[in-house]
Amino acid sequence: MALIVQKYGGSSVRDTERIKKVAEHIVATRRAGHDVVVVVSAMGDTTDELLGLAGEVTGAPTPRELDMLLTSGERVSNALVAMAIQALGAPACSFSGSQAGVFTTAAHGRARIVDMDTTRVRQQLDRGAIVLIAGFQGVNRESGDITTLGRGGSDTTAIALAAALKADTCEIYTDVDGVYTADPRIVPNARLLEHISYETMQELAACGAKVLALRSVEYARRHGVPVHVRSSYNTRPGTMVSAAREVPTAERPSITGVAHDQSGAKITVTGLPDGPGPAAQVFRVVTGAESELDMAVRDTSHGADGRTELSFLVPADSRLPVVAALREHQEEIGFADISQDERIGKVSLVGTGMRSQPGVIAAFCETLAAAGVNIEIISTSEIRISAVCRAAQLGDAVRALHGAFGLGAPEGVAVAART
Ligand code: ASP
Ligand code: MG
Repeated sequence: MALIVQKYGGSSVRDTERIKKVAEHIVATRRAGHDVVVVVSAMGDTTDELLGLAGEVTGAPTPRELDMLLTSGERVSNALVAMAIQALGAPACSFSGSQAGVFTTAAHGRARIVDMDTTRVRQQLDRGAIVLIAGFQGVNRESGDITTLGRGGSDTTAIALAAALKADTCEIYTDVDGVYTADPRIVPNARLLEHISYETMQELAACGAKVLALRSVEYARRHGVPVHVRSSYNTRPGTMVSAAREVPTAERPSITGVAHDQSGAKITVTGLPDGPGPAAQVFRVVTGAESELDMAVRDTSHGADGRTELSFLVPADSRLPVVAALREHQEEIGFADISQDERIGKVSLVGTGMRSQPGVIAAFCETLAAAGVNIEIISTSEIRISAVCRAAQLGDAVRALHGAFGLGAPEGVAVAART
C-alpha cells in the first residue's frame, strides 16, 4: 500500500460533471488499497473571476482581504469533491490550508511555506478517510491571518504535503498529457517527455513553462519528492520528474525544450554614470519595490560622456511600481532617463552542457536570424540560452528553435517519448 498525493488543476474540476469524474478516480485509487491525500485548485477560472470582483469594488484591494477572498475558491472545490467522494460511499474529509497545518510566512499573495503540521491529516488517514486539502493557501502563525502562495500555488501545496507525509509519489493531474518539449498550443509537433530532471524542469518553469509552478519544482527538488505530471482526461503515462539527470555526450548537448514567457516588461535606465556603484543602487531600488528581476545587462561606456545604459526585465505587474521607485531616486543615482517596453517576449532553449558547446549559441542566433527575429538581449548559462525579442515574434521564435534543434516528433507519428 502506498501513500499517494494527487493534485487536480482548475480545468480538471471546472464543473460538477468533472468533479464527479475526479471523485471516481480518487475513489478508485483508494479502493486499489492506497492512502490518498488530494489537493484541488479552484474550479475553472474562479481565481481570475474573484480578482475581477475585487477590481470592481476597488482599484487597490488590501492584500489581506484579497487573500481572504481568493482562498474561498479552493474551499468550494475541495468541499464539493469531498461530497462527491462521500456520495460514492467512501469516507472523505476536507480541510482548509490552515486546518491542514500549512504554516507560511506573512507575505500576502506570495507567502512561502515554512512548516507543515500534518497531525489532523494523519488522523483522518488513520481512520481510512480520503483527505482533501484546499490548495494555494496557508496561515501565518504569528498573525493568525490566512495567506496565499502565489498563482499556481496548489502545485506547491501538493508537493509540500507529499514531502511532509513522505508520500510515495505526488501526482499532478492537469489538462495536458504531461511536460512537452514546447507549449503544444504553439508548436503542434511538440513531443511529450517521459522523464525530466528537477533541474531541467526548474529551468523550464523559471523560463515560463506553465505546466508546474516554479516554486513547487524547487520544493520537490529540495525534498526529493517524485512528481508525476499527467492528464486528468485520459490514462496516458505522462511525465516523471525526478533527480535523474539528462546526460549530455561529448558530441551532443542534451537539449530538452524551448520555453517562452510573455509576462515581463523591459526597463532601460539611460545615462547612468559609468563606474562602481550606480548599478548596485538601481538594483537596490528594484528590490525595495519588491520586484523580481531578470536578464540584466550593462556594458561599460564607449562614448566620451562616461555614461552607460542598464536594461533588465521585471514582471509586467511590477513595471509601474519599479519605474516610480527609480524616479524617486533619480537624482541620487544620477541617471538621465528611464524607458519601458511591455511588448517584449523571452524565448529560452533549455538543456544541459550548453556552455561547453559554443556551436549551440551560434546555431541559436542563426536560427532566430533566419526567422527574422532580432535579439534584443541575450544571456547564456550552462543549462540555457535566453533571448529577448518582440512579443509579436515570440511564436515564430519558439517554432524556429524547436525545429532547428530537432526537438519535435516526426510528423504523422504518434507522440513518442524520449528516454
Ligand atoms: N487557484 C489558484 C490560481 O489559479 C491556485 C492554483 O490553481 O494553483 O492561481
Ligand atoms: Mg488555477
